[in-house]
Amino acid sequence: MSRLVSFVIPACNEEKNIPVIVKEIAAIMDSLPYAYRFLFVDDGSSDHTLSVLQQLSKENQHVQYLSLSRNFGHQNALKAGLDHAEGDAVIMMDADLQHPPALIPLLLEKWEEGTDMVYTIRKEQEDLSLLKRKTSALFYDVINNMSDIELEQGTADFRLMDKKVVDAFRQLREHELFIRGLVKWMGFSQAGIAYIPSARLSGTSKYTIKKMVRFALQGITSFSTKPLYMAAYLGFSFAFLSVLYIPYIIYSFYQGHTVSGWASIIAAIAFFGGLQLMILGIIGLYLGKLFMQSKNRPHYFIKERSWDHA
Ligand code: UDP
Ligand code: MG
Repeated sequence: MSRLVSFVIPACNEEKNIPVIVKEIAAIMDSLPYAYRFLFVDDGSSDHTLSVLQQLSKENQHVQYLSLSRNFGHQNALKAGLDHAEGDAVIMMDADLQHPPALIPLLLEKWEEGTDMVYTIRKEQEDLSLLKRKTSALFYDVINNMSDIELEQGTADFRLMDKKVVDAFRQLREHELFIRGLVKWMGFSQAGIAYIPSARLSGTSKYTIKKMVRFALQGITSFSTKPLYMAAYLGFSFAFLSVLYIPYIIYSFYQGHTVSGWASIIAAIAFFGGLQLMILGIIGLYLGKLFMQSKNRPHYFIKERSWDHA
């Protein structure tokens, strides 16, 4: 019996892209000796993504879908897909065809060679905006310096996971998912493949600058407590420096020019005020994480599954 490969594809407002990606992947998979299946995750789309999926799943036996009760975000949609995907291997990729299907045979080849997790690395792409390239590079530098995991520049959520990695992933109870870091952390045998991303086929990117900054902060605070240590060290350093300042204050008092120096006081207050807010903010980020985790809410709710109609 041939082995089953499942494609987990999160989709938020991707009505035009879904038929195309199904066709492109099918063209590749039909020539390979595997059984395959699509598991689309409709992440609270407001366009016709769901009806496109309903229609496709009737016409095409390879297509299955889950529809979430609202938009839970890319990472939670991926988790929903991984939680429900069957098969000996799962390949996750974006619905917008930025992850080239032509890479699929390579992923499968590496898997056949015994690699449990085959990830992909996005190579520099000219038409990606300079801002996105620079912020992305900065993000990987920061996370690699701050945490114990080592992420290659441009690691994407386009990867193949063996069944045993998927089973392990399902055991994670972590909120504010940062999947590319988590799978790296999980271990197993891993290998990377580089690719040149294509342009988005249709529709617009759902990652605004605001969402990217949030995602980056979540990634860093999920894998490192270094920012907390840095906050503490900064606090210690300035406390020490201010102790050195005391003899100077006493000296000036005896010199009799204590009123002058207003500017330096205001400057110091503004500086330390800002510093304290920053440090409180860092602590707040971790506290927020604990808060979200302690509620232990499900990552998503499902309102509809294609196989319930069957
Ligand atoms: N996506 C999702 N939920 C969201 C945002 C995005 O399921 O809240 C999906 C989206 O449909 C796409 C993938 O995640 O398949 C990557 O999103 P996008 O292409 O917008 O991000 P970018 O490639 O611009 O980083
Ligand atoms: Mg995209």
